Amino acid sequence: MLAYSYLDQNKFGFTKKPVPQIVGTRDAIVKVMLASVCTSDLHIKGGHVPRAVRGVTVGHEMVGVVEKVGKDVRNVKAGDRVCVNVETFCGECFFCRRGFVNNCTDPLGGWALGCRIDGGLAPYVRVPFADRGLTVIPANVDYESALFVGDVLATGFWATKISQIERGDTVLILGAGPAGICTMLCAELKHPDRIIMCEQDPVRLEFLKRHYPHIFAVRPEDAKDFILGSCARGGADVVVEAAGTEKSFRMAWELARPNANVTIVALYEKAQSLPLPEMYGKNLTFRTGGVDGCDCAEILRLISEGKIDTRPLITHRFSFRDLDRAYELFEKREDGVMKIAVSME
Ligand SMILES: [Zn+2]
Ligand SMILES: [Zn+2]
Repeated sequence: MLAYSYLDQNKFGFTKKPVPQIVGTRDAIVKVMLASVCTSDLHIKGGHVPRAVRGVTVGHEMVGVVEKVGKDVRNVKAGDRVCVNVETFCGECFFCRRGFVNNCTDPLGGWALGCRIDGGLAPYVRVPFADRGLTVIPANVDYESALFVGDVLATGFWATKISQIERGDTVLILGAGPAGICTMLCAELKHPDRIIMCEQDPVRLEFLKRHYPHIFAVRPEDAKDFILGSCARGGADVVVEAAGTEKSFRMAWELARPNANVTIVALYEKAQSLPLPEMYGKNLTFRTGGVDGCDCAEILRLISEGKIDTRPLITHRFSFRDLDRAYELFEKREDGVMKIAVSME
C-alpha cells in the first residue's frame, strides 16, 4: 500500500509499505476511512519533534472500520466503526491508572501513532492496545462528525477539564485555530459567564463571527484593554493558551486574574520564559503539556447528543492521493483553511 511518510526534515511524501498485520495480541488493524492533517504534523516535518522517527507514516487523527483484532482485544471487533485515539496506552501503568495516558510508560505508550510508529495517512493502520485506543462511534454519528474526537477535540476537552472552569467564569482562549475552537466548544458546556477568543488572523476572526456569533472575539492588540476593562477581578478566571507564540505565552499570564488557572496547550518551537519577578504575587497555577486522550467515549456521547459539533472546522476535503497539495495548503494557511478531511477511497 502507499503510505504518506516523514521522509526527512522538511520532506513528507508517499512510500510503499506492506499492509500492517497484527503483531501483539492487543493490536487491531483499522481500515482508515477519513483522516486529517494536524499542526503537530508540521512540527514533525520541521524537525521540532525529537521523538519522531524518519520514515514513519504520519497521521494521528482518523476514523475507520476495524479490519481485524488480536486475540486479547475485547471491546472492539471486525466491522466496528471506530475513532482512533492519538495516544496508545496500556491502561495499567502508574500514569494510565490516573488518567495521564500521555505519559504511559509502555514503549508503545503516549503519542506514538504517526510519530514513532506508523500512523493513519495510509489505507490501514495498526493500533496497539486497541481496547484503550479505539472507541466505537455511535450509530447516529457520521465519520466527519467523529473525525477530531481522537486528537484536536480530545485536546479541547482535556484543556477544559484541567482548567477547572466553573459556572460564571470568564474564560480567555488565546488562538482561534482548531485547538482553540475545540476548547471553546467544550468550555461552553461548563456554563462560563463568557468566553473571549483572542486571535490576530482576520480570516479566523471572520470564521468565528460566522459560526459562533455569540462568542466575544478580540485582537491581541486590544486584548489587554478589553480584558482588564471588563473583568472585575483584574483578569480572566481561566486562560487557555492555544496559539503558541512568545507573545501569546506572555499574554496568557498577564491577562489572568490572581490565582487563575493558566493552561498551556500550544506546542512551542522555542523555549519560553516565565518572568517570575513580574509575576510575583499573582499566585497562578500553570498546567502544561499534551492531551491525555482518554475521554473519547464521553466526547462521542456529547456529539451523539448534539452538544458538540466540529463539522464547521472541516473547511477542505481532499483525497489521499492529493495529500501533497493538502499539506501545502494547510502549511501556508491558504484559502481560510481550518481543518482538512482526507478521504482514503
Ligand atoms: Zn495532532
Ligand atoms: Zn500505561
